[in-house]
Amino acid sequence: MSGSPDGAATFEPDEAFARQLDANDPLGGFRTRFHIPNGPSGLSSVYFAGNSLGLQPKSVRSLIEQELKDWADRGVDAHFEGKTPWYSYHEVFRESGARLVGARLGEVVLMNSLTVNLHLMLVSFYRPTRRRHKILIEQPCFPSDLYAVKTQLQYHDFDPNEALIQIAPRPGEHLLRIEDFEELLDREGDSVAVVLLGGVNFVTGQLLDMKRIAELARRHGCVVGFDLAHAAGNVPLQLHEWGVDFAVWCNYKYLNGGPGAVGGCFVHEKHGDHDDLPRFAGWWGNDPKTRFRMHLEPNFVPRGGAEGWQISNPPILAMAPVRASYDLFDEVGMEALRAKSIRLTGYLEYLVDRIETDRFKIITPRDPDQRGSQLSLLVHDESKLLLSKLQREGVVCDFREPDIIRVAPVAMYNSFHDAWRFAQVLGRHMVPSG
Ligand SMILES: *Cc1c(COP(=O)(O)O)cnc(C)c1O
Repeated sequence: MSGSPDGAATFEPDEAFARQLDANDPLGGFRTRFHIPNGPSGLSSVYFAGNSLGLQPKSVRSLIEQELKDWADRGVDAHFEGKTPWYSYHEVFRESGARLVGARLGEVVLMNSLTVNLHLMLVSFYRPTRRRHKILIEQPCFPSDLYAVKTQLQYHDFDPNEALIQIAPRPGEHLLRIEDFEELLDREGDSVAVVLLGGVNFVTGQLLDMKRIAELARRHGCVVGFDLAHAAGNVPLQLHEWGVDFAVWCNYKYLNGGPGAVGGCFVHEKHGDHDDLPRFAGWWGNDPKTRFRMHLEPNFVPRGGAEGWQISNPPILAMAPVRASYDLFDEVGMEALRAKSIRLTGYLEYLVDRIETDRFKIITPRDPDQRGSQLSLLVHDESKLLLSKLQREGVVCDFREPDIIRVAPVAMYNSFHDAWRFAQVLGRHMVPSG
């Protein structure tokens, strides 16, 4: 019986096999680098909600304590004399941030949070003309993105009912089709200013072919941006090579940077040095050479690259946890993480498929190339009740209206045994009660 995506290995349903997969997992040791919450029984939970809030790396505490110490011991001087001087703290992410999303040095900055960064990017990259003024997004679209885009359209005096295009799955389907993007852009591309899509959809877990979409958008003269909230730290990205104009992501989902963590932002090199791009400026985006000349420098001179979009000085205590997270990603490497993610998600899929029931179905793509570490279960009835039953047995996953349970086996810290336990619990609740 083959449950393996690459056909090279086969899965078996028993617990011993799960243990064996864990024993052979080269990333197995990383689990101990995280705090895993306990379930109601006192045993560690099956934490499959890392797509919503990633777990805390144990190294976070000492990194925050270091900053508290520098603040206590040095006060304002820690800006230049701390262990990691605060003045340039955001620069510690230059290399790891670029590696994470496939960018060149200078194309990535950590600042603000996702929706704020999306607004800042649209200020610069949504530059509507009468003829080309529409924004294309997907359905289902995360509400914050939808609000941001609608209010940007209104800010430019366009009516979202006319100027917002949403590409949706076909009737009776759950996933977007690339041929529908092609067809839509062939038809309406001339009027589309910005194509803005989630790289991995937050409801279905569908991973879009971002390279292909960026090509299509470019061919039609549209700016292309991605929301990578569910993609960064989940799947390998090549933003520079794909020619993506801008991207934004949050660092608290797959990236384990802590609740409300400082967000990430990518601006392609081809735009980074255009100081004439309209932007909302603040002192931290200014050339650091003249930043502290304060009232002597009335004119904003953006520093090159993505860092030129910073506004305020960075929240050091909130950035320290993200450092812990990015260090871990550097240590593991996206390639190894992706290899485990494909195997772990495939194994979970295999186990869930064995449950004999028609009460739910998996709507996430079956093809590993079209998904990351998430399976979305469409539950036909009493989905919320099912979720609370799972929770009572120490399974943490989440729910999206109206009837989707999202299950995220995260390669960084979840085990194959977690997947096995999940399938056991789910299977027990699918037994007809008679
Ligand atoms: C999680 C998520 C957000 C969150 O936005 P914040 O500004 O960080 O609160 C936005 N968009 C998408 C698609 C998300 O998944």
